[in-house]
Amino acid sequence: MNENELLAQLLLPDIDKTPDYFEKMYPERELKDGARVTRIAPSPTGYLHLGTLFTSLVNRITATTSSGVFFTRIEDTDKKREVTGGIEDIIEGLKRFGITIDEGFISGDEESGDYGPYQQSRRAEIYQTYVKDLIKKGLAYPCFCTAEELDNVRKEQESKKERTGYHGEYAKHRNITYNEAKALIDEGKPFVIRLKSSGSEENRITFEDTIKGKIEMPQNDEDFVLLKSDGIPTYHFAHAIDDHLMHTTHVLRGDEWISSVPKHIELFKILGFKVPKYGHVSPIMKLDNGAKRKISKRKDPEAAVHFFAEQGYPAESVIEYLMTIAASDFEDWRRANPTEDYRKFKFNLKKMSVSGALFDENKLNDVSKIKISQMTSDEVYEKLTAWAKEFDVEF
Ligand code: GLU
Repeated sequence: MNENELLAQLLLPDIDKTPDYFEKMYPERELKDGARVTRIAPSPTGYLHLGTLFTSLVNRITATTSSGVFFTRIEDTDKKREVTGGIEDIIEGLKRFGITIDEGFISGDEESGDYGPYQQSRRAEIYQTYVKDLIKKGLAYPCFCTAEELDNVRKEQESKKERTGYHGEYAKHRNITYNEAKALIDEGKPFVIRLKSSGSEENRITFEDTIKGKIEMPQNDEDFVLLKSDGIPTYHFAHAIDDHLMHTTHVLRGDEWISSVPKHIELFKILGFKVPKYGHVSPIMKLDNGAKRKISKRKDPEAAVHFFAEQGYPAESVIEYLMTIAASDFEDWRRANPTEDYRKFKFNLKKMSVSGALFDENKLNDVSKIKISQMTSDEVYEKLTAWAKEFDVEF
């Protein structure tokens, strides 16, 4: 064994598989040309948010329009933030709004599909197998820095007005030898595994965002963490492994992730994976004293989808309204097809708002009025009694 192989064996002695094993286990999907595979990957940290419902709708309709697959994956690597019943709240919430799920978590405790497990806490062996391979190839290494040491480095960088982070000369353990690592492990020191980045701040990358168009950014040069000290992956690493093995073609997610794309592209390349198409969905905004801002989980009741149910909006109205935000050509289509199921609409990611649509309650009310007027009286009666049972028994 060479030095890197010895190191890999020292750090992850229990891993006896190679990436090849999983590549064979999860072969390409057999789908027709142009079919898009999309997903949402929520963390079970609370109730279903309007933003998650919106992103789910965009993913669902992208898959539907192309005869593809939409699946759900639970990102539960942060056990501290998890709430009981969190998975169920999200999945049942989506179903309540008519978002059908082809694969992955189809209820709070049940998954279906050939690409599972669809819950990251059950995929530790998979992540560790790929990390071990990167270490063997000299592309990842253990870092024994304590939180305090990292904090000191950050302060030093700040005082010198330098870019903060674990990169370049600040990447202390970048060239750690087998013997050095062995000595620290024998002392019982905890470690994380970092990527040995080959990027440079000076270089720029460009990628075509399917929603926002061409984006240019500096390459990643940060030796960011792949596996935390408990052997659980970071979001970045889990995203690369899971979306590769689950054959996601389009990663459509909240635009707070744009700044991480250089990291993700580097990871896909280093791992030898095809980079998926990215599309970053702008958040739904709100006017607050004349200024536009993101709808906030803390401040705004409408951030929780439950709010709309409580107010008595039928699920169909909320979805119809979200479609008008999602696609600038939806309303024209709707005028031409007043009673057609919205799923028949040919959705195009290029027609999405780049800057973030404003939440408009009057518009929601208008859309809802039309939806309700198209229901039969039996339907209205049924929905009204169901609503009253849940929210206003006296009524
Ligand atoms: N768990 C991440 C989130 O909820 C997923 C982002 C993604 O879709 O990749 O923001």
